[in-house]
Amino acid sequence: MLANFAQNLEKYAALITEVGVNVQPGHTIVLNISIEQQELAHLIVKKAYELGAAEVSVQWIDEFSAREFYLHGAEDRLSEVPAYKIAQGNDWLAKGASRISVVSSNPDALAGVDPERVAKYQSAMGKAMMHVRLATQANKVSWTVVAAASPAWAKKVFPDLTSEEEQVDALWNQIFKTTRIYSEDPVAAWQKHDATLETKADELNRIQFDALHYTAPGTDLTIGLPENHLWEGAGSFNSRKEKFMANMPTEEVFTAPDCRRINGTVSSTKPLSYAGTTISGMHFTFKDGKVVDFSAEVGEEVLGKLLATDEGSKSLGEVALVPDPSPISQSGITFYNTLFDENASNHLALGQAYAFSLVGGTEMTGEELASHGLNRSQSHVDFMIGSSEMNIDGIKKDGTIVPIFRNGDWA
Ligand code: ZN
Ligand code: ZN
Repeated sequence: MLANFAQNLEKYAALITEVGVNVQPGHTIVLNISIEQQELAHLIVKKAYELGAAEVSVQWIDEFSAREFYLHGAEDRLSEVPAYKIAQGNDWLAKGASRISVVSSNPDALAGVDPERVAKYQSAMGKAMMHVRLATQANKVSWTVVAAASPAWAKKVFPDLTSEEEQVDALWNQIFKTTRIYSEDPVAAWQKHDATLETKADELNRIQFDALHYTAPGTDLTIGLPENHLWEGAGSFNSRKEKFMANMPTEEVFTAPDCRRINGTVSSTKPLSYAGTTISGMHFTFKDGKVVDFSAEVGEEVLGKLLATDEGSKSLGEVALVPDPSPISQSGITFYNTLFDENASNHLALGQAYAFSLVGGTEMTGEELASHGLNRSQSHVDFMIGSSEMNIDGIKKDGTIVPIFRNGDWA
């Protein structure tokens, strides 16, 4: 058993509630968490009420039942979202509910399930819950994504450790390390980290590059940036001006690309866990913002389904800078989970751009956002492209070139 596990789990629950969604008196909290993580769930519930939450609604996730549903559920249940689920989403929105998502799923939970059926359900849910997703992506409400170690996930990350207990301990150890739980005061440590990332974002916002040029083995890509784009660090603000931390861990500063000005080729450098399967060795060719050619060494069929979700899923909605010397990258571990792997590496996202990546964007309609070059899609899937061999240049409007990254780190 990991030393001081119970105390550290309690510190973790405190960090999630105090910094993650920043619970204030009267808040409604929606907690999405696996039935395997009951101990952490109860600690979060307890802390949230201590901080004055009006209600904590726990949405239990059961991977086994979800898999059985994808395998055997009736066709019409895959494509029709019942009205009560939509009403529930509306009720949460009306209450300005904060969302805590604890991810712990087996990266291969849906391996062997017909990707067509998974895509069908996700598309139906995506359409029905559009308003909830848009409110979240526009930061109208506070939201945070954090992790918990499950046996199946830990086994995938640490296959060489002999017992399940060792594997789970090793993964918890990484979660605690990267979320700074081992520091004396994790809340203060996060405030400091947030300030550091803010400095980088401020500098990039001041310069306002017109485009970024990425080079690395298998990559030669130019990405335009919209006028008045906003780089953001770890911390965000909801519509009540309350601060929250959308991801923990996080090491990135990110913004939205101009989805009409993306040209060249790009290769992934880490596997992507998507829709319950692993996709790796991806290669994309972009022309005028759209993927015109792609391949993957593993999971090409699932990648094809993702790109076919809608028009926007063939373009990019996020560019994120993460130095290769980040603690997660240096651990050398592939986590098979985007929350961790995206923070090991420079990444891009296929699909939807965040409205807050543009000055005034959260007050704009979808059409207005699109007219500024912000990509619109039902999907948002990050994939990793960074390595110690990656260089990135910033190109100013007047053509001046400024090095941003050299050999995987800030220039
Ligand atoms: Zn990102
Ligand atoms: Zn993303």
